[in-house]
Amino acid sequence: MEEKLKLVQNNIIAACKRCNRDPKEVTLIAVSKTKPIEALLEAYTYGMRDFGENKVQEIVQKYPQIPSDAKLHMIGHLQRNKVKQVLPYVTMIHSVDSMRLAKEIQQEAQRNNQIVEVLLEVNVAKEESKHGIYAEEVMDLLLELKDYTNIKVCGLMTIAPYVENAENNRLVFRKLYELAVDIREKNIDNVTMDVLSMGMSGDYEVAIEEGATMIRVGTSIFGTR
Ligand SMILES: *Cc1c(COP(=O)(O)O)cnc(C)c1O
Repeated sequence: MEEKLKLVQNNIIAACKRCNRDPKEVTLIAVSKTKPIEALLEAYTYGMRDFGENKVQEIVQKYPQIPSDAKLHMIGHLQRNKVKQVLPYVTMIHSVDSMRLAKEIQQEAQRNNQIVEVLLEVNVAKEESKHGIYAEEVMDLLLELKDYTNIKVCGLMTIAPYVENAENNRLVFRKLYELAVDIREKNIDNVTMDVLSMGMSGDYEVAIEEGATMIRVGTSIFGTR
């Protein structure tokens, strides 16, 4: 794993160099879903602190076993009836894709007296098989969310299509970036657009070139699932 992780980290640095970005702007989230806790702890010893999980049950099980400065990111589809369960354990929810889910998060966060950092998941390529709202729906959702004071919208997330050639996703990433720029100009309450969560094992370098601030990499660190 150490070699694999080093390769990813070097690729991040190289991608940042190509577009004059500071590698510190890019957070590598090690997607540890389906992997045993030992794998996560090994990555921790190599300096990883941010981990991506997509199942509530797995988050609940892993959380007590990770060091206190390790963070779990919810990157998978979240059902409303699981919000209560997962909220205490996650540092950020990347997958808010409906007003109904946002409302549930708001209510639960208010009850806990907590502010929850979230990203809106955008289905940029309008794939039938994917969750996420369409780009043209994002602004309306954000305007509705501005009174939800226990939710802080930190940015946007997308899962790009599966492609053989990462270049084919460049315009998907660029579109998410441009959407974030448009939103930022509107200065909406409780909304910042500092985070762009985009890019996975197959295409994170292109995503960085297009402005990703969080990349979610599983296979290239932990091997195939
Ligand atoms: C599994 C997953 C990833 C990581 O995918 P890899 O191709 O293994 O890097 C990233 N984002 C989401 C939302 C995922 O579910």
